[in-house]
Amino acid sequence: MDNDSQVNIKKEKPFWRVKKMQDMNEQEWESLCDNCGKCCCIRLEDDDTGEIYITDVVCKLFDSESCKCTSYINRSKKVPDCVTLTKDNIDKLHWMPKTCAYRLISEGKELPHYHHLVSGSSSTIHDEGMSVKNAVISETLVPEDEQIKRIVIWPGEPSV
Ligand code: SF4
Ligand code: SF4
Repeated sequence: MDNDSQVNIKKEKPFWRVKKMQDMNEQEWESLCDNCGKCCCIRLEDDDTGEIYITDVVCKLFDSESCKCTSYINRSKKVPDCVTLTKDNIDKLHWMPKTCAYRLISEGKELPHYHHLVSGSSSTIHDEGMSVKNAVISETLVPEDEQIKRIVIWPGEPSV
C-alpha cells in the first residue's frame, strides 16, 4: 500500500452545520439567504383569529425578475416596515416562511437540496419553483383593499 492510499481525506462539515448562528460571521450569515423572496410578499392578518396569510403582492422595492430587493443596503430607510432579520430576532418572527433558510437553521433543520449552498448554484431555487421569481406583482399596482384577493400558497408553505 503506498502513502497516498493511506491518507484519510477529512471532509470539513459546512459552516451552517457546525456553527451556531450567533457565531457566524457576516459573510456566512448573509450567504444563508436563498433569495426566495417570500419574506418580501405582503402578509395579511385576520383580526379575529390572528392568522397570517401571505399574498403574491410584493414590496415596492422588490424586483420580480432578479427576485431581489433593489435597495438591500438602504431597505430599512426606504421601507420602515421592512424587518431586518438578525441572529437575535429570527426565532421570534413567526410569520417568516417555513422554508426560509434562516428559520430552518434556527430550528435545527437542514438546508434543502435547492439551496445554493447545497446545490452550488443560485439558480436552483428558481429552477425548482421554490422562489417567487416572476410570480409576484408590485404593491404599487394593487390597491390595498384588493390585496385580500391575492392570498396564495407558495410551494413549501403550509396551506391556508
Ligand atoms: S424568506 Fe429567508 S431565505 Fe427567503 S429571501 Fe427572505 S430571508 Fe432570504
Ligand atoms: S425593502 Fe427590500 S428586503 Fe425589505 S421587504 Fe422590501 S424588497 Fe424586501
